Amino acid sequence: MILSSDDLSDNLFKVINETNIFDIHTHIFPPNHQNYFLIGFKNLLNYHYLIAELLTATDIDASKFYSYNDEKRASLIWNELFEKRTPVSEACAGVLTILNELKIEINNKNFESICNEYDKKINSDKNIFALSNVSSVVMTNNPFDIDEWSLFINDDWDKKKYLASLRLDDLILNYEESLKKAKDQTEMNEKDSIIAYLEKCYSQSNPVYAAVSLNLATFKNLLNDSLWKNILDWLQIKKLPLSLMLGVKKAVNKNFGLAGDGIGNINLKELSNLCNLFPKNKFLVTCLSLDDQHELTVLARKHPNLRIFGFWWFMNQPTLIKQILKMRIDMLGFSFIPQHSDARVSDQLIYKWRHFKKILHPILLEYYQDLINKNFPITEIILQRDINNLFSSNAKNFLGIK
Ligand SMILES: [Zn+2]
Repeated sequence: MILSSDDLSDNLFKVINETNIFDIHTHIFPPNHQNYFLIGFKNLLNYHYLIAELLTATDIDASKFYSYNDEKRASLIWNELFEKRTPVSEACAGVLTILNELKIEINNKNFESICNEYDKKINSDKNIFALSNVSSVVMTNNPFDIDEWSLFINDDWDKKKYLASLRLDDLILNYEESLKKAKDQTEMNEKDSIIAYLEKCYSQSNPVYAAVSLNLATFKNLLNDSLWKNILDWLQIKKLPLSLMLGVKKAVNKNFGLAGDGIGNINLKELSNLCNLFPKNKFLVTCLSLDDQHELTVLARKHPNLRIFGFWWFMNQPTLIKQILKMRIDMLGFSFIPQHSDARVSDQLIYKWRHFKKILHPILLEYYQDLINKNFPITEIILQRDINNLFSSNAKNFLGIK
C-alpha cells in the first residue's frame, strides 16, 4: 500500500522500533564469562564517559577516585552528576533513559534504593536484548589477553547472539609481548608464529572481522610493515574485513585511566592508499574526529572495499550525529552502517539504540517526505527494506554473514 504523508511518520516510527538490530561493535560478553560480563546500575554509572565527566566537573582527585570500590565510585557519580548537577550530557541522559524505560521513579529516592529497584528489573542479558530489540552483537575479543580469550574454551554460551572479532591493537601497542604469547600458544618459530596463532584463534572463535584502532603514527604500520602485509593477506584468504577505528590518542591524561584517551590525528589519504593497495581486502572504517567525517564519506564513494560504520565515542553526540548522518545519506544513500552501540555494560544497549532511533526517525522522515512530494511511491515494504538494511543487512552482507 502506498503511504500518504499523513501515514508516513507513524509507519516509519513503528518499523524503526520493531526491526531487529545487529550491533556490529560492542565490548560486551555473555553472562557465562563472569569476570567480563557487566550488568546493572553500578556498572552503568562506572562508565568511563561518566568518570571523565566527574573528574573534570569536580575537584575529585583521579587516583583517589580509582582507589574506591565500585559501589563508592557509582554512588559518588550519582551524587555529583545527578543530584548536585543537572544531568544534561549525552552520557548522563543515557542513564536516565534506561531508568525511564524501566519505569523507575527517582524522585525522593536515595542511590541505594534506586540501585535495588534497578537490579530487580534487570537481571539477565535476555531482558536487555528484548528491551533494545538487538538480536545479535559483535564482541571485541583480544587474542593476546589469554584470560579474556578463555571464553572460547567454553561452549556454554550463545554463539549466534555473541559473535567474535579479533582485536589486534596489542600487535601495535605491545608487539614483543604479543609475539611471545603467540609463540607460547603455537610452538611455531618467530617468523610464522603470529599468523599461526591468528589461524588458531580463527578456528576457536569463528570471528566476523579483525579490528585495530590507529592514529597517524601507527597507521604507517599497515602500509610499511611486513607483518601487517601478511596479516592483510591472511584476512583476505579468510574473507575477514579489517575494521579500522581511526584517530584515537591514548592517555591524553594518564591519570584518568580508560577515561583518559582523546583525539589524535589521522591522514585519510593513507586510508585511500590502503584501499588501492589491497583491493581484495574489505575495510570497515569509523573516525573519531569531526574533522575527518567529510573526507571519509567521500572516500566511501570512491572505494567499494570501504564501508563506513557508526558514530564512535566523541562523535556519538546528538548534535554531531544529526549533521553527519544527513551528510552520509546525501552522499551514499543508505549504503553504510549507520550505528553501533560500543556498549561496555550490557544495559547500555537499551539507551544507545533508543537515542539513535530518536535521531534517525525525523531525519528519515524528511527524506521520505521529499520523495512523496516528488511522486515517488513509498510503501511499508520499502520502509521495512530500508530499515532492515540500515539496522542489519548492510553490516551482515559486508561481513558475509547469512
Ligand atoms: Zn569500542
